[in-house]
Parts: sequence; C-alpha cells; structure tokens
Amino acid sequence: HLSRRLEKVAEYVLHEGTIADIGSDHAYLPVYLVGNGICEYAIAGEVNEGPLASAKEKIRQNQLQDKVEARLGNGLEVLEGRKADTVVVAGMGGPLIADILENGQSYLPDVKRLVLQPNIAADHVRRWLYKNGWSLIEEAAVEEEGHVYEVLCADRSGVNPYSKDEFEKQMWLGPYLMKQRNAAFMSKWKKEYDQLLRIQAQLQMAENARTFERQKEMKQKLTWLEEVL
Ligand code: SAM
Repeated sequence: HLSRRLEKVAEYVLHEGTIADIGSDHAYLPVYLVGNGICEYAIAGEVNEGPLASAKEKIRQNQLQDKVEARLGNGLEVLEGRKADTVVVAGMGGPLIADILENGQSYLPDVKRLVLQPNIAADHVRRWLYKNGWSLIEEAAVEEEGHVYEVLCADRSGVNPYSKDEFEKQMWLGPYLMKQRNAAFMSKWKKEYDQLLRIQAQLQMAENARTFERQKEMKQKLTWLEEVL
C-alpha cells in the first residue's frame, strides 16, 4: 500500500523494464512496482547507510532480492553498469533533484522517462528538463497531510512550446497543473498568493534600491497568480 503521493509517482512510471528509484529510503516504490509486476526489475539507490539498510530489509521481507537491488551511491551513479528505462527522484527539494540530474547526465542517455516529485521549488526541476532536451508530458498536484505535492512526468519529445515571456510563468506554476487547476493546486497557490502579498507589504515599507528587484519579482508573481486563481 503506497501513499497517495507515491501512488501518483507509480502511475507515471513506464510499465516495462527497469526502474531506478534514487533516494529510495524504505524502497516502498520499487517493492510495489516489482511486487505487482508493473516493472521487471528495480534499483533502489541510496546515498546514506541508514536508509539503504531499511531498503534492504524491505526487499528481503518481500522476498524480492533477485529483482530489486539496493545500491549505495550518490544520485545516478548507482546506474553504473546498469540500464534503467525509468528514473524516479522523489521526496526531495527541487534544487537537489535538479542537481542530481545535472551531475548524472552521463547516465541518462538510455533513460526513456523521468518521474520527479519535488517537495518544494518544482520550478528548478521544470527548467532543468526544458534546458536539457526533456519535456513534461503530464503533471499532478496531490494533497497529503496538509501538504501539496507536485509530481512531474517527462520524456524526450524535446519540445519547448513556450515563448521567453511565457516560459518563467509555466515553469513556476507547471503547464499541466495550470490547465487542470484542481483543488490541491488552487489551495497551494491561494496560500502562496496571500504570503506574497504580506512579503510585498513588508518590502514596500523597507523601500530601497536593494528591495527594488525583489518587488518587481513579487509583482510579476502576483500578476501570474491573479491570472490563474
Ligand atoms: N523517495 C522516497 C519517497 O519519496 O518517499 C524517500 C524520500 S526521503 C525524504 C529522501 C531520501 O533521499 C533520503 O533517504 C536520503 O538519504 C536520500 N538522498 C538524498 N540525497 C541523495 C543523493 N544525492 N543520492 C541518493 N539519495 C539521496
């Protein structure tokens, strides 16, 4: 049984071949995918010994040792000597996910799909995708225990349909999420809108050359939100 967040991640994984789950912790996702015959083989990557031990324990409990391999390593380096059809990086901050992809470029040529679930700052991940020949094919916003999680699904169709002006707005809000405008998305951005208003008021009080750029950025973001909310 997966959380709603990981259920959505599982939905976007290619239903074939090998999946690599980077930062797998308890290996819930690989065990679920292989245990249910959705994928044939999985690699659970972990940079830390503690979570790696949890992953190994979970794999053993489910008697999946011959189909799910837990490997110690930083980011995509656990793909050394292996091939994965889908790579998942979930449950980390957007900037860390973008770094893991950037540092792991040499392991990506054989990968067909990326499923990425940034806990915060998803815009870093979206920008990385479009700057590196990937494009979003689907997105979801899922609410769980009061937090809204964004799940991004990308392949190599390599189309960037956005003009320079449109690009930043799309990367910030998510092109598919902006169209769906589901309850989770709306609740996340309504909160963010109120917070931006408060920050803007504070910046206005401290008005000086240093806050000028931030004010411009706030104003832009507030305008984008007014367009979708
Ligand atoms: N992916 C699981 C999920 O979404 O539920 C676990 C998320 S957990 C919050 C993040 C995990 O990523 C931790 O177990 C941490 O050790 C691991 N991690 C952080 N940086 C990593 C890196 N550079 N390479 C591999 N694993 C990493």
